[in-house]
Amino acid sequence: MFQKILIANRGEIALRVIRAAREMGIASVAVHSTADADAMHVRMADEAICIGPPAGAQSYLNIAALISAAEITGAEAIHPGYGFLSENANFVQALEDHNIAFIGPTAEHIRVMGDKITAKDTMKNLGVPCVPGSDGGVPTLDEAYTIGEEIGYPVIIKATAGGGGRGMKLARSRSEMETAFGSARSEGKAAFGNDEVYIEKYLGTPRHIEIQVFGDGKGKAVHLGERDCSLQRRHQKVFEEAPGPIIDAATRAEIGKTCAEAVASINYAGAGTIEFLYENGEFYFIEMNTRLQVEHPVTEAIFGVDLVKEQINVAAGYPMSLKQEELEINGHAIEVRINAEKVPEFTPCPGKITQYHAPGGLGVRMDSALYDGYSIPPYYDSLIAKLIVHAEDRAGALARLKRALGELIVDGVDTTTPLFHALLEEDAVLSGDYNIHWLEHWLEANT
Ligand code: ADP
Repeated sequence: MFQKILIANRGEIALRVIRAAREMGIASVAVHSTADADAMHVRMADEAICIGPPAGAQSYLNIAALISAAEITGAEAIHPGYGFLSENANFVQALEDHNIAFIGPTAEHIRVMGDKITAKDTMKNLGVPCVPGSDGGVPTLDEAYTIGEEIGYPVIIKATAGGGGRGMKLARSRSEMETAFGSARSEGKAAFGNDEVYIEKYLGTPRHIEIQVFGDGKGKAVHLGERDCSLQRRHQKVFEEAPGPIIDAATRAEIGKTCAEAVASINYAGAGTIEFLYENGEFYFIEMNTRLQVEHPVTEAIFGVDLVKEQINVAAGYPMSLKQEELEINGHAIEVRINAEKVPEFTPCPGKITQYHAPGGLGVRMDSALYDGYSIPPYYDSLIAKLIVHAEDRAGALARLKRALGELIVDGVDTTTPLFHALLEEDAVLSGDYNIHWLEHWLEANT
């Protein structure tokens, strides 16, 4: 087993990994920018090393600085968390060249899944159901018109390199195609340096259902059911739950098996998430994330597993301890993402925390790097806490979430907590009757 690992990340996810490492008897190295010298992950790790100035590009995304930090501290492996370099194939390649293990899949798998066209093509060939659309890239507007006629409007034009909801444009009819096609291409070029786009049928009322998979890198893989992440704002998830309120055991077993077999057949290593839109009882693949997801704790709660320990085990060459026949769902879990943002505008609200009190009690998990007196720097993502609740069923989890939100105190900055108090009064949320557009419509009507 590794003696020491470095965490190439910050905030709650860095703490999440440090905690797993400590329980495994592995020493941890935190890296930080100059803006994060007082951050909790720096305090909690066994060692800490400054890797650059505040801007992400010069610190948490600085591959040379991270490799130097690992070499100086003698860390044998790097856990990337999510975001930053977690899906960067060049980073994984560079680590390999320096004999540092990457706690995640191979550079090749990251590359294939990081390009949405090759990802979709690969999944299609592995028998995973996909959204009807163009066969690969669509280079010209004329071809875009042809595809539009073939699959029928509305269609969505997507940048192959897109992510985080960027590089996607809707064309409701032929007359909107020219603008949508042009702006998807230019957004792809500007944000990701790649203007290749493809086209898919636009689904009107789907849910976002994603399957957690885990592979040992040697041809074995399991699935850990689904998460329903349909409550989204600007294509960003805000509320996630497992199991999905409308997925039954037979449906779960079938799509889960398809996904586990697909990743097993490519010798996928570690945690992965296969994302689908789900409409009228059909699954449509949209993308695969080759890393730990922000919302992984809801899966951990209902299956009673530790995905980060499992990732570390597999990266160190140990067998995967997860066995499909032993993975049983126990109860229901919900996560809400608490951001330092002012609602209803959702404008970032960095600043000093004057008082912090985390909720607790049975079935409550608070993943956060906040503390009294901490100053949230303005340079990074505004996620400051994930509140995860677990109970015997969905109604119990909703009641527990309401109770726990009532205990939370974050003074000094605005947070998105009021949004969740309001959502818990909504019949659609209480009954689980929503799709990916519900929250946007609700926000329009209620703010
Ligand atoms: P990103 O990589 O930017 O997150 P995804 O392909 O995962 O992009 O899509 C993000 C979100 O965009 C989905 O959760 C869904 O809300 C919406 N979306 C993507 N594809 C479609 C589609 N074919 N029809 C309708 N909505 C879609």
